[in-house]
Amino acid sequence: MVKKAQYFEPVDLKTDFPKEENKLLKYWYGQGIVKKYLQKNRNSRKRFSFLDGPITANNPMAVHHAWGRTYKDIWQRYKNMQGFRQRFQNGFDCQGLWVEVEVEKELGLKSKKDIENIVEGNKKKSIEKFIDKCKQRAFTYADIQTKQSERLGYFMDWENSYYTLSDGNNYMIWHFLKTCHKNGWIYKGKDVVPWCPRCETAISQHEMLTETYKEVTHKSVYFKLKIELSNNENLLIWTTTPWTIPVNTAVAVDKDMEYALVVCEGNKYWLAKDAVARVFGDNCRILKTEKGEKLVGMKYKGPYDHLPYLKAIRPKHKDGFHTVIATDPLIMPITAEEGTGLVHTSTSTGQEDYRLGKKIGLPVFPAINDNAKYLEGFGELKGKNAKKSPELVLNYLKKEGWAVKIENYKHRYPSCWRCKSELVWNMTDEWYIAMDKPSSSKLKVNNISKIQSSKLTLRERMMNVAGKIHWIPEFGLKRELDWLSNMQDWLISKKNRYWGLALPIWECEKCGYFEVIGSKDELKKKAATGWKNFKGKSPHKPQIDEIKLKCEKCGELAERIEPVGNPWLDAGIVAYSTISERNTAANPKNEGKIPYITNKAEWRRWFPADFITESFPGQFKNWFYSLIAMSTVLENTNPTKKVLGHETVVGEDGRAMHKSWGNAIEFNEGAEAIGVDVMRWMFARQNITEKMLFGYKFADEVRRRFYLKLWNIYNFFVTYANTDGWNSAKTTIHRPPTTKHILDRWILSRLNELIVNTTKSLDEYNAYRASEAIEGFVDDFSNWYVRRCRGRVGVSIENTKNKEDFYSTTYYVLVTLSKILAPFTPFIAEIIYNNLTKGESVHLENWPKKQGYLDGQLIKNMKSIRQVVEKVHSERKDKGIPVRQPLNTFKTSHKKTTRSLEALVKDEVNVKNVDWGKIKGTELKVELDTKITPQLKEEAETRKLIREIQKERKKMGIELDEVVVVTNSWLPDSRELKEWLKKTTLACELQKGKFKVTKTL
Ligand SMILES: [Zn+2]
Ligand SMILES: [Zn+2]
Repeated sequence: MVKKAQYFEPVDLKTDFPKEENKLLKYWYGQGIVKKYLQKNRNSRKRFSFLDGPITANNPMAVHHAWGRTYKDIWQRYKNMQGFRQRFQNGFDCQGLWVEVEVEKELGLKSKKDIENIVEGNKKKSIEKFIDKCKQRAFTYADIQTKQSERLGYFMDWENSYYTLSDGNNYMIWHFLKTCHKNGWIYKGKDVVPWCPRCETAISQHEMLTETYKEVTHKSVYFKLKIELSNNENLLIWTTTPWTIPVNTAVAVDKDMEYALVVCEGNKYWLAKDAVARVFGDNCRILKTEKGEKLVGMKYKGPYDHLPYLKAIRPKHKDGFHTVIATDPLIMPITAEEGTGLVHTSTSTGQEDYRLGKKIGLPVFPAINDNAKYLEGFGELKGKNAKKSPELVLNYLKKEGWAVKIENYKHRYPSCWRCKSELVWNMTDEWYIAMDKPSSSKLKVNNISKIQSSKLTLRERMMNVAGKIHWIPEFGLKRELDWLSNMQDWLISKKNRYWGLALPIWECEKCGYFEVIGSKDELKKKAATGWKNFKGKSPHKPQIDEIKLKCEKCGELAERIEPVGNPWLDAGIVAYSTISERNTAANPKNEGKIPYITNKAEWRRWFPADFITESFPGQFKNWFYSLIAMSTVLENTNPTKKVLGHETVVGEDGRAMHKSWGNAIEFNEGAEAIGVDVMRWMFARQNITEKMLFGYKFADEVRRRFYLKLWNIYNFFVTYANTDGWNSAKTTIHRPPTTKHILDRWILSRLNELIVNTTKSLDEYNAYRASEAIEGFVDDFSNWYVRRCRGRVGVSIENTKNKEDFYSTTYYVLVTLSKILAPFTPFIAEIIYNNLTKGESVHLENWPKKQGYLDGQLIKNMKSIRQVVEKVHSERKDKGIPVRQPLNTFKTSHKKTTRSLEALVKDEVNVKNVDWGKIKGTELKVELDTKITPQLKEEAETRKLIREIQKERKKMGIELDEVVVVTNSWLPDSRELKEWLKKTTLACELQKGKFKVTKTL
């Protein structure tokens, strides 16, 4: 038999999808498809401005990044297909402690001292080398992440990503800080802040995410303080941080709370009356009770009164020091539910303590140095690590009789989000941006008149700006506003660190005057010394610190302050620093001008961004926050029109992914095992407000439910089209075919409906609903259209209009579907499109529009009769009558339907007649006539035989168009059934004998 030339590349049902994906990547990048994609709308007047939240270039990309990147890709692809001009710029976050910690590990360094001694004895050279290592690390991982993103099928202008380490990005932050300073918002302040003793730096409120709190057990201690001039009375105090007892400043009470003096084993203690039973049980007797205010003013002696520093302080602070004070409940509320209702107040080691002390004038004296060791003046404690050795204090209290009770105490305690060390609270000078100070500037700010601008604080302005953004999901706005209304001043400095923004603040040591520099040019103009050496270098440590300015107030040389900047400054500025047409701004390889400074009109074409998307947890306090803050200061407007937030990824078992728990999947591993198309579909199908359970089981389910179903339809089409010698030469992919067949009309209507629905959902940034609609469509396409059309194709069916209609319809639907799928699953979409159309790439196509008819009534009717079908199938199942057994009739409550729909029902459920509307009632019911006549039985037997022959043909590898001879012991008597049997199995002859199928020669 002569083989017909096959028009379509045959489909392999056992395709290795990850392998195909890798082949396509070579095609896309090798044949310039990505370049053409990026350039597709370069002359369009419509713009879509996506702003990328930079990924931290410090480690390989993880699966959870792939979720966000899938969204980023989906909408940029969608808008590209719709003809919007875009920038396609990806960003890398490069500076900060996270990089330092990894470089320290790489180099085996343990502390700040080690870093400053990489080049022995040369601090400057050491820092230079360390910074260089940090830079290199960022570049290395940026390259790795680029490769991984490409693997994900993410099309971006990878050669022109922005880097937050670029000069442009850093100088743009300078401009921002200068603007803050003009408003009078930059200040240096003392505060007690969370502090990492290992990294020797403050952890800002923004970085204190809930994830950094761990359940830990510490020793808590009840101890006494002896009241002076009393009859052996003591204050009973409780603390979970014994290391702070040597720096006790005062004891706070609530002046309205009831306190009791109790006697227990011969000792007298004051504590809250409501705490007595909890602390002592029945083991004590109440002598008297008093309101807290009666206790205020009592002086007491403490266990560490002998320390040298105390001896020096005591004479200077007669009032307040080692005295009972009344709390301010707004600063430090006191309850009797935990502890004793008498609160150990230590102004240099607790934030609330510090603020309360500041309000009522308590002395403050530092206790520990930057790595949490006790300072000079702490006697035997000096040089000991306060956090690591609480027993130093506990043993002493026990030995000297100050401890009343020591217990294990389980609580949630914060640790450093980078190095995991437990934090302490430390008093330090830091730099802040004030949130609640009206502007002192006379400058006119956008949208706000002079008068208003002087009245509104930064916090108020930011809240207004946050309200202009469309948050998806809606609760995003509430969360952002919650954060904005509760947050303190923005701590922007990070002490004792190296790899970060050089804060452009030069401070005069002599007179305290400081100046904020807003640009490189300004620095050049004002530099008194050091410019020559600095020229041509990036504004980083250590070279930036060579430059000294002349103090405007006193003429002394002013130096740059030591700290680097908070890393969220780096990411928050990108709406201003990175926007440029050819993506040259903030790109260190090819650094160009920043339009915000040099060409505002160009910048405005892309600002505000139309869309940003990131994982929610944390970003309200971080990127969303800094983005809004910086845009509010610079332009008093929203940096983006829309923000889409999504949850995060956890392991399949619902727990966070951890290597040691065996539930972690690395991106590369997942990509090659699952295939990134399926992975992307998993992300698209995920509800954004729920944590995603990511794992291989879930991937298999998604593959089965959707991906393979689609692949099977595609296979069916290609296989039969090739067999029937059909090709697409006479069809067009741009218009639906004209066909009268009810199934064709139905699937074409459904396709139009799908186009309308996915367009709407994508316009609303709802990938979940769009992908749900696609999945529903593919299910209908497979389980109804193709299923009911099987009888329209194959060589046994004559080449009629009916067959032609099937092919042109399925072809049109598949090609259109490939376009709809392109943003979601770019690989399978490309395979289908390439093979069916022989075109260059689906990714250079336009987004489909509704064309031809959308028969809503037909869709409704089809749905309705499919319900009848389902009922009949389930009745058959209940009664044990297989579908291959034809029945004469069934009755139903369903009202009469059209003849063509009735034919579909009869075919599907294998029944000769339907009695419509013969059962009363509104509920859908069916009733089968189960009588099996000899004719019906013979037909069933014939069907069974057909099935066996088809199975045998497949087993023997007989081509769909090959004619065979069939032998069987039973053959139907009916002439009609015989003909039918021969036609459907392509048998030229039927013989009696033992069952076999033989090829003809
Ligand atoms: Zn740390
Ligand atoms: Zn000065």
